[in-house]
Amino acid sequence: MQNIYVIGGGLLGTVLIGGGVWVAFRRGKRKNSASTTKLASSLRDEKAKGDIILSTIEDGVVFADEQGTIRLFNPGAAKITGWATEDAQGLSWKSVFAFINKKGEPLPEDVTPFGRALISGQTVRDNDAIINSKSNTAIDTSFTVSPTIHEGKVTGLVCIFRDVSEERKEENQRAEFISTASHEMRTPVAAIEGYLSLALNEKVATIDGRAKDYLEKAHASTKHLGALFQDLLTSAKAEDGRLMNHPEVVEMGDFMEQLTSDLHFSAEKKNLGVDFMIGNNNVSSNNVIDASTPVSLAGTKVVRPLYYTLIDPERMREVITNLFDNACKYTDQGKVSLGLTGNDSVVQIYIRDTGHGIPPEDIPHLFQKFYRVDNSATRTIGGTGLGLFICRKIVELYKGRIWVESVLGQGSTFYINLPRIDAQEAAKLLAQKGSNPDQSIAAPDASTTPQAASTETAASNVSTTTTP
Ligand code: ADP
Repeated sequence: MQNIYVIGGGLLGTVLIGGGVWVAFRRGKRKNSASTTKLASSLRDEKAKGDIILSTIEDGVVFADEQGTIRLFNPGAAKITGWATEDAQGLSWKSVFAFINKKGEPLPEDVTPFGRALISGQTVRDNDAIINSKSNTAIDTSFTVSPTIHEGKVTGLVCIFRDVSEERKEENQRAEFISTASHEMRTPVAAIEGYLSLALNEKVATIDGRAKDYLEKAHASTKHLGALFQDLLTSAKAEDGRLMNHPEVVEMGDFMEQLTSDLHFSAEKKNLGVDFMIGNNNVSSNNVIDASTPVSLAGTKVVRPLYYTLIDPERMREVITNLFDNACKYTDQGKVSLGLTGNDSVVQIYIRDTGHGIPPEDIPHLFQKFYRVDNSATRTIGGTGLGLFICRKIVELYKGRIWVESVLGQGSTFYINLPRIDAQEAAKLLAQKGSNPDQSIAAPDASTTPQAASTETAASNVSTTTTP
């Protein structure tokens, strides 16, 4: 009995275990197929969601594979470009996206957002792209193109773009209004300023002390208003490309020397020292060109390189005067130093002060329109917040770059990099200009970080000058 029981028990146990495994197996199978079904349905859901998003959003979404063939072209892309999705898919992005410049000329492939993303392997944003639609209409667009990367190789391009024609139109209308309004208001303001100057001129008018005080305040405010209208006008023009600009070959050493002697009065009014240094061709890495071994113009005979650039001297005078005036305005004691240096491809100007300095959190916004640092030190100092914006726009006109380095409480240095042209190029351009004075000259490019100069200094870049 015992045995039977044992056997029976064993059988029972085996059956029970077997049954248990079977049930568990069945359950597992049911569970697996349930989860597969769930997964499939959730994938369907996700795809449906993706499809809904892609077909609903107004932005164009495009995916091009490794060969540049368009694999995905959503209805938004179709609406903007005029290409039907089924026609665009299977074509190269080069056939569908006809990028053009402001003059309507086709852009070389490597400067289009797609081309740049392919070459750099990085996301490229271009808010000022223009494309020709299928029906040959120019459309203002904003593009973001990101490469997909596998094992270090670009395997495709994901592009999101949108039509910004309406925004551009509104911006242009706004700029047009500001420009007309400030232009119209400058004339009466200039007249008020003129009459106030006359009233304050003791030779032509007699006023009592109290009235003089009021008129002086009115005069200062009117001057400020006039400067504001002028800045508004200049910035509106800078934005829509109407800024008068006649580039010519300028030797920056002579130019800066002359400018420094014109500017130093405003520093002296505040008892600030002024110096100007021309550096050698010593170049350190990265952004800042080393001017630690300057050639002072105070000496008798100096050998210095000639730094030729292609700029409109009047525009650059505005920029440097603005930076110099700011340096004086935001400095209570010490000095303002101007410097010029460069390497084979870049001319660098700096304006350094020993003033208030700029808080690090304000630095990224400083060159935006109307941006002013708001603290107790600056609140009492008047300004429009347009000066640095205008400076940036002018420097960019010559494919240059402007930036600032600053230590709070110790001072700031504003740097400008401009493309340098060598002496032969300068002579050639001057000769060309002589034979055809109306010819406009295209500026070279220094907007990228300057490369370290070659150790060899081009003989043509160095010249001997004698200064008093
Ligand atoms: P603003 O007319 O206010 O001077 P800017 O555009 O020229 O306008 O300058 C923007 C702001 O940058 C200024 O309000 C000031 O706070 C700051 N800033 C400019 N230059 C200097 C400087 N050299 N030192 C300290 N702060 C400066």
